[in-house]
Amino acid sequence: MYQHYKFVNIPLPYGYDGLEPYIDKKTMELHHDRHLQTYIDNLNHILKDYPALQMWSLEKLICHVESLPKEIQEPVEHNAGGVYNHEFYFRGMMPSNGSVSQPTGALFCAIDAQFGDFQTFIEEFKQQATSLFGSGYTWLVLNKNGDLEIVNTANQDTPIACHMLPILNIDVWEHAYYLKHYNERAKYVNDWLKVVNWPQAEMNYEAACKFWNEKIMRM
Ligand code: MN
Repeated sequence: MYQHYKFVNIPLPYGYDGLEPYIDKKTMELHHDRHLQTYIDNLNHILKDYPALQMWSLEKLICHVESLPKEIQEPVEHNAGGVYNHEFYFRGMMPSNGSVSQPTGALFCAIDAQFGDFQTFIEEFKQQATSLFGSGYTWLVLNKNGDLEIVNTANQDTPIACHMLPILNIDVWEHAYYLKHYNERAKYVNDWLKVVNWPQAEMNYEAACKFWNEKIMRM
């Protein structure tokens, strides 16, 4: 994170086949090397003629899109969002032995407190991910009140643009699962649950709590 122009496609933290058999190698190759690469290329192309914006981080571009020149606001929003959301998604998965694992530390306690228990959280997350109409992402976020919340975003919208701090996300665009799961998004969500990188989600939660607490202190 906090990268800026010229954006580069960070290699996956595991092999293309590292999430097999839950997410297949071909899907990961196309998703990372073509879909994400296209957002990166587009974003670099847009910023090429705006040297003043080339030091802006991805997060700053997304959160201050209204400060950008009018003619690039929408394309920056779409493409910076595409980069942010995909990097978050790829980092949020890891190889697995096939069992659904769960967080262990503060995040587990917070999920328990917010949703009743971990299983209820999983059911609510699955419900949101399968009911999202069209293309987008389902997220676990820390919301403006400092509470955990499951939210859906359309297309390449991001929670950070709405002052929510992301902890976990799943890409439910069809390109994320169509080759293996065809149109059966629920099966993809079940398989994704087996490769969630909970240690990464724990780190995201700790960073989100720290950021939120510091914001409250400043108010
Ligand atoms: Mn995608």
